[in-house]
Amino acid sequence: MLNLLLFGPPGAGKGTQAIKIAEKFGLMHISTGDLLRAEVAAGTPLGISAKQLMDKGILVSDEIVIGMIDSKIEKNLSGKGFIFDGFPRTLPQAEALDKLLSDYEMPITITLALEVDEEELYKRISLRGKISGRVDDQDRNTFLKRMDVYNKETSPLKEYYKKTGVLVTLNGIGEIDEIFNSLSKEITAKL
Ligand code: ADP
Repeated sequence: MLNLLLFGPPGAGKGTQAIKIAEKFGLMHISTGDLLRAEVAAGTPLGISAKQLMDKGILVSDEIVIGMIDSKIEKNLSGKGFIFDGFPRTLPQAEALDKLLSDYEMPITITLALEVDEEELYKRISLRGKISGRVDDQDRNTFLKRMDVYNKETSPLKEYYKKTGVLVTLNGIGEIDEIFNSLSKEITAKL
């Protein structure tokens, strides 16, 4: 099985690249942001409470996202593997993922971190906000909050994955296909 983690700040291009990678390598794409937005759109109790946090750029509880990931993995065990996008975002999430994957005897093949500077991220996010209507993309303070959460809670996970020797950092600025090619090269080298 091929299990990839795609890592990076809000607006780094994780979603765009994850879709392309999932298609090329035949993987199941799991985005916690997309799963949560689907709950919001369906108006479930989980979605209603998650929306209040997401619109402000605050993380949804570890318990909720870990539960969502667990049930997604369980239902897709016969596939070629997974690409996780936007998960894990906290240390407890990373630990829970390790536990889940070791229970299923499928280790993480590689963690790919996309690097993009804050100015470029803000440009991308505000453009996406205009197109998608996402509330969390439309306000500068919400963007700053998300960056703050990323720097404090998520970015330290790079050290966590460096220790296990599977972290590769890549430049996330440039043409989409150019970035996709460098990601693909790293993945292919692990096959
Ligand atoms: P982006 O790619 O811009 O970071 P996402 O779509 O991944 O945005 O996430 C949007 C929001 O969904 C986050 O700000 C957070 O509120 C919630 N969310 C997504 N993934 C997680 C997660 N793993 N843990 C907690 N909250 C999450």
